[in-house]
Amino acid sequence: MHRIVIVGGGAGGLELATRLGDRLGKAGRAQIILVDRCPTHVWKPLLHEVAAGSLDTHAHQITYAAHAHWHHFEFVHGELAGLDREGRTIRLNAMMDSEERGEEVFPVRVLNYDTLVLALGSRTNFFGIAGAERNAITLDTLEQAERLRKHLLQTCVRSRALASGGKEDSVGIAIIGGGATGVELAAELRRMESTFRQFGLLAPEGQGVMKVTLLEAGERILPVLSPKISESTRTSLESMGIEVSVSDAVTDVSTRTVRTKSGRLIPADVTIWAAGIKAPDVLATLDGLAVNRINQIKVTGSLQSETDENIFAFGDCASCSWTGNRMVPPRAQAAHQQALFLFKALRARMEGSAVGVFQYKDHGSLVSLGSSSAVGSVAAVANIGNVFVKGLVANLMYAGLYQKHLMAVSGMWRMVVGLIAHGLRRAGAPRVKLH
Ligand SMILES: Cc1cc2nc3c(=O)[nH]c(=O)nc-3n(C[C@H](O)[C@H](O)[C@H](O)COP(=O)(O)OP(=O)(O)OC[C@H]3O[C@@H](n4cnc5c(N)ncnc54)[C@H](O)[C@@H]3O)c2cc1C
Repeated sequence: MHRIVIVGGGAGGLELATRLGDRLGKAGRAQIILVDRCPTHVWKPLLHEVAAGSLDTHAHQITYAAHAHWHHFEFVHGELAGLDREGRTIRLNAMMDSEERGEEVFPVRVLNYDTLVLALGSRTNFFGIAGAERNAITLDTLEQAERLRKHLLQTCVRSRALASGGKEDSVGIAIIGGGATGVELAAELRRMESTFRQFGLLAPEGQGVMKVTLLEAGERILPVLSPKISESTRTSLESMGIEVSVSDAVTDVSTRTVRTKSGRLIPADVTIWAAGIKAPDVLATLDGLAVNRINQIKVTGSLQSETDENIFAFGDCASCSWTGNRMVPPRAQAAHQQALFLFKALRARMEGSAVGVFQYKDHGSLVSLGSSSAVGSVAAVANIGNVFVKGLVANLMYAGLYQKHLMAVSGMWRMVVGLIAHGLRRAGAPRVKLH
């Protein structure tokens, strides 16, 4: 039987494995195997909410093993470490237990494939800035988002304790990178702050400060979106008391300060790095597969590696042309469209038909500005380009993006049941996790 191995069960990989499992796996026409280094899936665009404590991670994780069972594919828990293109095998690292007892859970393993699909996503790119990797926290994984949440909580609690001893009650937070992740996190932190004040983890309004500074090297925040969206977002952030600094690149990150090119020194109890991405380093070591300067696999219009037609790559870890000189952007929206394309293309390939060419359609972008607002542009019904949306309407549309992902991987009924359960669980509980 044809073996399709998908490495990476994120926004794109999980959707593809689910669709292929439901269609080919169920009918016994192909063996579908999903490999991920984590045992559970969390939709990455939710991570800023995890970091700000406004999302219950347990309620939003999909356990791969159970999901695989229900959708007729096999899940392998492991981390990609090597590739043998001639032998059509991948190698997975040995896995040690998470309790740090040093016991091996899985030895090094080798998996055969007929078709390999790489969907490993991306990581933070520190661009070699001094001290950034050591002193700043990132938002690449659920563990990092949880670590950031705990760090923020402890910093606030400590500052409150110091204040009761007569010292000033203030917390400085520097967010580096004015893209969607930095903006959304900055806005979400305001919700965290007000809940902390409500429950006494921070001093009441007017008695202490949580100073959030958003630092962007370019001329405006959200540089890939329209100037109108940038301006509107900046106004909203400033009205929330968030300082927005542009045209001043960060040059140095130390434990308690961030230095910029202009010589400014920003005090920061917590520094978060949200500026730029690169694909995982392992991709640059895979048996001669062509990659670009940020480790993304170079793919053709059909999402096949330029080096090997039996290997496909998509999502954040692939470099795929769009229009003109532009590349398909690293977004959940793109990973979803590519998963749909590959679902058809891989079946066509098995039947000996043409694979086709992937066409990315920009349906717009939405940026969340906290609990009840968002801003962005969405594709209009008629062919008049994207239209600007803001406020509650944009916020509802933003919330709909996650529900769409859930529907794609879990089906309509599970999505609806999950939504109701989530609403019930939230009733009467603090809006932000306090422990
Ligand atoms: C905080 C935040 C907010 C965002 N908000 C938005 C948004 O609002 N809208 C939007 O469109 N996009 C958003 N994005 C970007 C979006 O999350 C990504 O573009 C999208 O998740 C990419 O999907 P993917 O399938 O390529 O990779 P991912 O979803 O990152 O999945 C990669 C998977 O590969 C696994 N993996 C990695 N390395 C290995 C390995 N060596 N072996 C095995 N498995 C491995 C990982 O565990 C993970 O499950 C946001 C990103 C962040 C961080």
